[in-house]
Amino acid sequence: MTDPVNVVVYGSAGRMGQAVARAILDSTTARLACALVRPGSGLADEPLDRVFGTLPRDVSFSTSLDPDVACDVLVDFSGPNAFDAALALATEKRVGFVSGTTGLRPEQFAALEHAARTIPVLWAANFSLGIAMLLRCARRVAAALPDWDCDIVEMHHARKQDAPSGTALALGQAVAEARGIGFDAAAVFARHGQIGPRNPGEIGIAALRGGDVVGEHTLVFATEGERLELTHRAGSRDSFARGALAAAVWIAGRAPGQYTFDQVLAP
Ligand code: NAD
Repeated sequence: MTDPVNVVVYGSAGRMGQAVARAILDSTTARLACALVRPGSGLADEPLDRVFGTLPRDVSFSTSLDPDVACDVLVDFSGPNAFDAALALATEKRVGFVSGTTGLRPEQFAALEHAARTIPVLWAANFSLGIAMLLRCARRVAAALPDWDCDIVEMHHARKQDAPSGTALALGQAVAEARGIGFDAAAVFARHGQIGPRNPGEIGIAALRGGDVVGEHTLVFATEGERLELTHRAGSRDSFARGALAAAVWIAGRAPGQYTFDQVLAP
């Protein structure tokens, strides 16, 4: 049996960070090397069992990575404001970088591409198996029915910071790519007032917010007389956490480069 992969979780006090840490603690393929929290967090230096129940007390929540800690991969679920520091830490340590942080700015995607020259990186807007399959379906249907109208509707919990979701954007990009059109030109993020008829080829994206919805995405393909709807509903964050953990184990020790979650799931 190979040694477990040493994983540092960046943003480990958050909803996703906790789910990833729990998945690691339950796994035999990975080991939680460090649980990083933001500077000033009330959890700093607290033992993990304060959040995760009874556990061996050899790992604490921490605001910095001890240079002596063995680390193979850093998994980031923080936010756009903390993403740069997470990527810088992975680059400095020369370890794999897996991130699910959404709402990133174009320059942050460029920084990810730049980092891929020296470390293996994998960013995904969504780490659930179902969404990975929905992305594959989106490409096939969009290419097979090029003239059908396509809109995307997503709903998330009331505290989500970014809109539309990174997953809705990824779905729109997949549709645009499959049709050989530019997503930025095709995307319509709001419809209000006397907008007139729908432009051929446009991809509408609508965002709903409320309650504790973990994440729902519906891809609507419509033409005269019929409509095809493909919906994914996430019932808990565990599915994302399991996918992120699988990506972390998969990327450990790989050559520098930019990888996709689809590659982790291939064929
Ligand atoms: P959250 O607000 O619950 O958690 C974010 C955590 O990051 C917080 O605990 C915050 O204190 C921490 N943080 C901020 N700055 C930090 C720093 N410098 N160092 C360490 N920790 C820091 O948010 P969430 O719901 O867990 O979502 C986190 C991100 O993951 C969002 O961008 C969200 O959209 C995204 N997300 C992605 C997926 C996916 O599958 N890719 C799924 C769900 C959520």
